[in-house]
Amino acid sequence: GHSTQNRRSVTITVNLGALRRNLATARELSAGSRQFATIKADAYGHGAVEVAHALSARTIKRRYGVPIAADNQPMDAVADGFAVVTLGEALELRHSGIKQPILVLQGPQTPDAASQMLRHQLWPVIHDSYQYEWYRQHTSRDKLRAWMKVDTGMGRLGFEPAEASRILASQDGITWSGLMTHFACADETGSAFTEQQVAAFGTVQTDLPLERSLANSAAILAWPQTRADWARPGIMLYGCNPLDRSLPQETVLSPVMTVQAPVISVKAMKRGAGIGYAQSWICPEDISVAYVGMGYRDGVPRVLDGSATVAVRGIRCPIIGRVSMDSFAIDVRQVPEVSVGEPVELFGETASVDDLAKAAGTISYELLTSVRGKRVYIDQ
Ligand code: PLP
Repeated sequence: GHSTQNRRSVTITVNLGALRRNLATARELSAGSRQFATIKADAYGHGAVEVAHALSARTIKRRYGVPIAADNQPMDAVADGFAVVTLGEALELRHSGIKQPILVLQGPQTPDAASQMLRHQLWPVIHDSYQYEWYRQHTSRDKLRAWMKVDTGMGRLGFEPAEASRILASQDGITWSGLMTHFACADETGSAFTEQQVAAFGTVQTDLPLERSLANSAAILAWPQTRADWARPGIMLYGCNPLDRSLPQETVLSPVMTVQAPVISVKAMKRGAGIGYAQSWICPEDISVAYVGMGYRDGVPRVLDGSATVAVRGIRCPIIGRVSMDSFAIDVRQVPEVSVGEPVELFGETASVDDLAKAAGTISYELLTSVRGKRVYIDQ
C-alpha cells in the first residue's frame, strides 16, 4: 500500500549479540561495578525497548523465588540498571516490562513528573534546586531513590561540590541514595582534567551511605580509578571507541549497527564528466559510478566527500560529489560489475562508524542518533 511505497530502502541492522558482548566487556573492565546501560536517545538510535530487553535476563521464577537467567543469557551481559534522560523514556521501558532500576539523567521537569517518578520507582537525578524543592515538599518520599548530580568541572548540569555537601547535610527528609558526576575530557587520555574532576568529586562531604557513579565509556576504558559502585557505559555498548587513541588489543568492541541501502543505478561516466550538485567531482577517466538510495534525509552527513568510503561486498568505495537528499554517488572502480540492488554499507562491519564520523567531522554518537531507516534485529 501507500505506506510501503513511501518507506525508504535504508536498512538499519542491530546485532543484539554484539551489544551483549560489549556490555560484558564493560563489566569486565569495571571489575565489580554495576552497570547502568545508557540507552537514552532511543538507545543511541538502536531502539531503547529492544536494547533494554536484550540486556535483561528473561527470568523464570523458581519455586523458591530465585530469578535465574533463561535462554542461556549470560549474567555478565545483563544490565543492572538503565540510564535515560526523560520521564517519557523511562515510562516506555517500564511499560514494556523492564524491571531494573532506571536512572533519569535530567530528573523531573514538572512537579507531576516528580510524582510519577516516585510512583514508578524511577531513580531521578536531581541536578538543580527546583527539582530538590519538589521532592522536599512531597509527602510520601518513602520509595524515592534520588541521585544527586555534582558538577565537578563539566560545566553542565549539577550542584557545585560545596552546595552538594550543604544539601546532603540538611536532613531534609529526602532519601538520597546516590552521588554522581560526569566527565568532560575522559576521552583525552593525556589530559589531567579527569583526575581533577575525581578530586573535586571527593570533596563532597557526607555521612550518608551513598552509592557513587562517575564513569562513562571513555572513563571505563581509560580511567580505571573511576569505576566506583556504578558505571554508565553508553557508546562502547554500541561498539564505538570514544578514546583519542585506539583500544588495547585485548579490548574488543563489536560493531552493533549496520546501515545499508541498495544501489539504485550504475552508470558508465566519461572522463571529464561532473558528478552531482556544483559538479564538485570530475571523473578522472572513464569510470563506473554507482548511485546509492540514501541521502542526507536519511542521516548521511552532507559534508562527506571523497575522504569518506562506504563498502560494497566488503570493498571500500569513495563517496564522490555532493551527497544529495535521497542519493549519493560512489566510485566503484574497485568492484567488478556492480549491479542495481546490491547492498551498500554506509557503516557497520566493514566501514566503521568511528571512521565515517571522523570523515564527517563529527562523532559516532551523532551519526548513530541521526540515521533513519527500517530497523531489523539480529542476534549473532
Ligand atoms: N552518563 C551521562 C550523564 C551521559 O550524559 C552520558 C552520555 O553522554 C553517559 C553517561 C554515557 O556516555 P558514553 O556514551 O560516552 O559512554
